Amino acid sequence: MLSTMIETQVDESTAARIARLAKRVLGGGEITRAEARFLFAIEDSADIFDLLSWANRIRVQFKGNKIHLCSIINVKAGGCSENCRFCAQSASYQTDSPRYGLVEAEPLRAAADEAKANGVTALGLVAAWRGLEEGPVLDEICGHFQELKNSGKARPDASLGIIKNQRVADRLKEAGCECYNHNLESSRRFFPEVCTTHTYEERVQTIHHLKNAGIKICSGGILGMGETREDRCDLAFSLKEIGAHVIPLNFLNPMAGTPFEKLEPLPPMEILKSIACFRFILPRQEIKVAGGRTVNLRDLQSLIFMAGASALMVGNYLTTLNQPVEKDLQMLKDLGLDPSWDKHGFSDQEVAVEADLARV
Ligand code: SF4
Repeated sequence: MLSTMIETQVDESTAARIARLAKRVLGGGEITRAEARFLFAIEDSADIFDLLSWANRIRVQFKGNKIHLCSIINVKAGGCSENCRFCAQSASYQTDSPRYGLVEAEPLRAAADEAKANGVTALGLVAAWRGLEEGPVLDEICGHFQELKNSGKARPDASLGIIKNQRVADRLKEAGCECYNHNLESSRRFFPEVCTTHTYEERVQTIHHLKNAGIKICSGGILGMGETREDRCDLAFSLKEIGAHVIPLNFLNPMAGTPFEKLEPLPPMEILKSIACFRFILPRQEIKVAGGRTVNLRDLQSLIFMAGASALMVGNYLTTLNQPVEKDLQMLKDLGLDPSWDKHGFSDQEVAVEADLARV
């Protein structure tokens, strides 16, 4: 009874309300969509620091001090048929982004060597195309997966677009793909402002095929594309509903030639607050800070972990540069964080996430 009275108290301070919600999450509970909207709407910087501090406690409770590192390699670049308005690789826009066809095995071997040398857990094979169908390209991709898996250098992951056929997802799984990235990008409501050549529903269906195949889901989005805070909140809840294991958060780095080139970048404190809100909504999932980190956060990069991030994309992004891996590793060391994960598969913590999600 007392707790109900406290829960419904209306005149509490913002700091007290943040603390109350955080304690509920720390105790294994959840916050509602309305409560999450309240967190996303916080503007006072002292309150934001409070929020970060609680998000940090939630990260420590559910993820410890381990930080999962991953990197990506573009296995086919540019000339994509889709019109995602943030993307320099779309054939719809005039950009300086490189274009090349499906790479041979050698660059993948080199990327796997580099990943191993840097202590990176997973290497994601990314392709700029609409999606993957049965045929010679799938055969070639599966061959790459098998070789990478057999080498034991890094876990081969993928981001290969829309999958419409369950058999394609099954073949990827058989070839050794453990985790597939397919972002929802934004809220269902905002998605048509981002892309019109495929639908949000096609993305959701792709994720269903992958889950049916037993592949773990890496799905997040891009913040700073003109969406509202409510869109960000809805994205987080959609990711919770689809059972994503890893949540990559990207922050728009407007690319010359794309329709989003003139968008104002998000302020760093808005980015940090958003990461913290995702941690409150998704306490057990891996929250990974990916593209747009260096350019948008500048000197505040290290605060992403206080905001609740538990994973980091290192090395260069698809069309832009990141800070050197050595600098990221030094940053983790200085913060007392541990990037030494099991390099040959999902860690015990990730397996625990799987078990938790099964109960949702
Ligand atoms: S985000 Fe992917 S699907 Fe969209 S245009 Fe770029 S490469 Fe194509």
